[in-house]
Amino acid sequence: MKRNDGRKHDEMRKVEGKVGIIKRADGSAYFRIGDTIAIAAVHGPRELHPKFLQNPERGILRCNYDLMSFSVPERKRPGPSRRSTEISMVTKQSLLPVLDLEQFPNAVVDVFIQIVQANAGTRCAGITAASMALAHAGIPMSDLVSAVAVGKINGDVVIDIDKYEEDTDNATDIPIAITGRSKEITLLQLDGEVSKDELMKGIELAKNGCDKIFEVQRKALIDFIKEKKNE
Ligand code: ADP
Repeated sequence: MKRNDGRKHDEMRKVEGKVGIIKRADGSAYFRIGDTIAIAAVHGPRELHPKFLQNPERGILRCNYDLMSFSVPERKRPGPSRRSTEISMVTKQSLLPVLDLEQFPNAVVDVFIQIVQANAGTRCAGITAASMALAHAGIPMSDLVSAVAVGKINGDVVIDIDKYEEDTDNATDIPIAITGRSKEITLLQLDGEVSKDELMKGIELAKNGCDKIFEVQRKALIDFIKEKKNE
């Protein structure tokens, strides 16, 4: 099957990333995949209030994902929704395994993710940007997390489906997040039907895609350090 925009089955849309885009935040990042653009800002670690929410053993992570009103064709009503609450939760779960928050008892690290432009794959773009922003903020991490969605359209397993493909009949979307070096899967969501073989093929595609995304993330962080040195 030929894809809508002519990409090969294993070809992602163009990806790019940058860190240090929001001066007031402790860490920040931009990540783009095709027409999907995510920005992430990290605040903290800082003391958590109200105090009864504090954990004396480790800092806690809070993630907040949202689509900007102008990010989708029809204006999106501002404020949280069931969808944004679910995505915020899975984002947190996909990032927690690489974070070491034991050094920050009673503290909170807040991650705000805004989707500036949406054309499918926004939760993955948000997770990728958030991971870069956390590293930029200097939060102790054992690894980065990279994410991309794979999917099945009309029987073909492909990487990074766009909105047009997602809206075709029989489309299945499988967002996957993978740690950069240790290659552990920290998120896998699946609605729709796939066989075991198709799922394994999808995971292979996601691994290759995440390798490329990991390189973009690393390069963004290295470029930032180089620029700082030259200042
Ligand atoms: P993801 O963005 O992670 O793929 P979904 O599968 O929930 O998550 O959404 C798929 C796509 O549908 C989004 O990327 C976006 O392009 C579009 N979309 C989501 N919410 C809205 C909305 N409220 N209005 C218009 N389009 C939306």
